[in-house]
Amino acid sequence: MFPQDLHIHTTYSANDSYVSPLQTIALVAAVRHAQILGISDHFENLVSGMFETYEAEIRQAGLKLGVEVDGHSWVTEATNYDVDYYIFHCRDNDADYKSLEQLLSTGKPVIIAHPNAFATNLGRVSATCLIEINNRYVWHNDWYNYYRPHRERFNFVIGSDAHQPNWLGQSVARYAADQLGIIEHLVFEEP
Ligand SMILES: [Zn+2]
Ligand SMILES: [Zn+2]
Repeated sequence: MFPQDLHIHTTYSANDSYVSPLQTIALVAAVRHAQILGISDHFENLVSGMFETYEAEIRQAGLKLGVEVDGHSWVTEATNYDVDYYIFHCRDNDADYKSLEQLLSTGKPVIIAHPNAFATNLGRVSATCLIEINNRYVWHNDWYNYYRPHRERFNFVIGSDAHQPNWLGQSVARYAADQLGIIEHLVFEEP
């Protein structure tokens, strides 16, 4: 079992074609591939009346409640919802770096999602952010040279970004973290 996985999608990310209909909150809770589990569906799917059901189902399963926020245009609305943590798509533009400060002002943990895939300039990101090494995307780019210069400045979290039951794993992300000499940061206490 892995220590932590806070980046998991379920059928609540209905517009994402990679999500399997089998990837329900109940299934993630039953498989329990990590000791600390959080669900982080796409925020834009939840705002049209779905959030309350989403929240209730996650709480009932005893999991951490997260949302994945797609850039600056969703940030103000996202801060109106009571979640345990945010996962943020920070593209390399001024508006996203500025909105990131707004998310951090909530005092909740903010995880920068798969930054190597978006070419996020980590030099422009506050050291209070948590940086993700993500099993879905880490191998897409020159991850070693991307992450290595920032190794000392941040805490890092490892996530699966699972959209299907067979993605509930972290093997590539853990390989990359080991090569980088990065020890993962546990955002929450074990249940
Ligand atoms: Zn993402
Ligand atoms: Zn995701």
